[in-house]
Amino acid sequence: MTRYCPAGDGAFEDWAERCPACRQPLQAEPPPAPSRMVAQPADEPVVFLATAPNEPVAQLWLQVLEDEGIRAMAKPAGPGYGAWGSVATFEHELFVLRSTHDRASAVIADLQADEEGTSG
Ligand SMILES: [Zn+2]
Repeated sequence: MTRYCPAGDGAFEDWAERCPACRQPLQAEPPPAPSRMVAQPADEPVVFLATAPNEPVAQLWLQVLEDEGIRAMAKPAGPGYGAWGSVATFEHELFVLRSTHDRASAVIADLQADEEGTSG
């Protein structure tokens, strides 16, 4: 009979009472996602955050959000690849996880205030 670490450290012989890695009592059933080392908040809905005027600005915002520990993504809001001009000139829509939206929108508001306040 084999017993399993509830934290996903693996399977052990049944003479082991506790996991040698994390000291938790072993259980008869394997944990639901044994191969996943890092939990991804994939179940959380992604919500619209803001529209950046072009790709460089979108990249800047993504970078600043990342520095704040907020995962964000951007997608072109223009007519798409293959249309006139470069995709870099299109507006980009930024999206974040719903739980980070309030914090993220405060960060973006600060950025936009900085831009308006910088005149030279
Ligand atoms: Zn363990």
